Amino acid sequence: MREFHYDTLPNSVIFGRGSVAELGSVMERLGCRRALMLSTPQQAAAASEATGALGDLIVGRFDGATMHTPVEVTERAMAAMSEVGADCVISFGGGSTIGLGKALALRTDVRQIAVPTTYAGSEMTPILGETRDGRKTTQRSARILPEAVIYDLDLTLGLPPAISGTSGINAIAHAVEGLYARDTNPIMQLIAEEGIRALADALPRVVADGGDVVAREDAQYGSWLCGMVLGSVGMALHHKLCHTLAGDFDLPHAETHAIILPHAVAYNAPAIPHAMTILRRALGAEDPVAALSELARAVGAPSALRDLGMPEAGIDSASDHAVENAYWNPRPIERGPIRTLIAQAWAGETASIAAGAAS
Ligand code: NAD
Repeated sequence: MREFHYDTLPNSVIFGRGSVAELGSVMERLGCRRALMLSTPQQAAAASEATGALGDLIVGRFDGATMHTPVEVTERAMAAMSEVGADCVISFGGGSTIGLGKALALRTDVRQIAVPTTYAGSEMTPILGETRDGRKTTQRSARILPEAVIYDLDLTLGLPPAISGTSGINAIAHAVEGLYARDTNPIMQLIAEEGIRALADALPRVVADGGDVVAREDAQYGSWLCGMVLGSVGMALHHKLCHTLAGDFDLPHAETHAIILPHAVAYNAPAIPHAMTILRRALGAEDPVAALSELARAVGAPSALRDLGMPEAGIDSASDHAVENAYWNPRPIERGPIRTLIAQAWAGETASIAAGAAS
């Protein structure tokens, strides 16, 4: 029998080429008149250019967003926000900038309009990962979810191939784990299947030609769907392992996801027959693990944790850490098999269902 709980996310999404022009009307709908624009230093000019028409609806700009949402940066942004008396933030960028907007909203309940420019999918989730003194903590709260999201593919045309590929695989990972999450439901499985299909099909085309607007649109559509899955259901081995590895060794987030995903699916494969059937359909492949490895290769993602700077000695400590922080997973998390998984990912060995099941 099917038994599930299902809550919809209370946010509003605008999707379409040139839709950043709707920022003013979105602010009006939210009852806002004074926006603080958030971006990374690298995207400050692009953010100004895309939002120039807003005139004095933008009362300040904070371009200090950075990876891992450090609390010190949030505190500086809080000061900037109160100095200009902002009543909303516009988070223009990828998961790092959107994370900063979320951190501000968690503390002040300020309204957020996210304008995502990568495929990571954070804009659709009530989840925030923050770092304090080098330690990352993750939390969920209704306050964290951006009230409005504007997906404008024109803002993704300049996204470099490497970030396009790895942020897209990061989004695919959200949907893959949503297929077998403990609290998954039939709606999320439909959305996950379509999101994986759209992104897996689009990413190689995006990487081959960043100006291919049809591929960019397909990728952004898939990213939205995959983000929605992460926002709605819990995660398992893949996400927890990536957080452990990225946190312990300061590895880059999206690249770590790209390396681990095929290994995590291979590990779980014996315990997730229904999810594997959906994955076969979504990826159009008999062997989803091989298809995910091939996708990572096709978009030029790294394949070995050692190439990201993880030391070999870290295999054992990460295995201990992964087992200590026990969490739900469809297949029990046991040190021996997890060590094998991490060792294979460290060395860049190709993941396979047979190796995952035997480990
Ligand atoms: P990012 O936001 O760190 O951006 C990477 C780089 O790309 C930055 O220098 C940025 O300025 C640049 N960039 C972004 N868009 C660009 C564009 N269109 N053109 C040119 N340059 C552009 O990368 P990301 O992968 O989007 O985000 C990663 C972060 O997001 C991680 O910290 C991760 O933990 C977080 N994340 C959170 C969630 C969640 O639900 N909480 C989900 C996914 C990712």
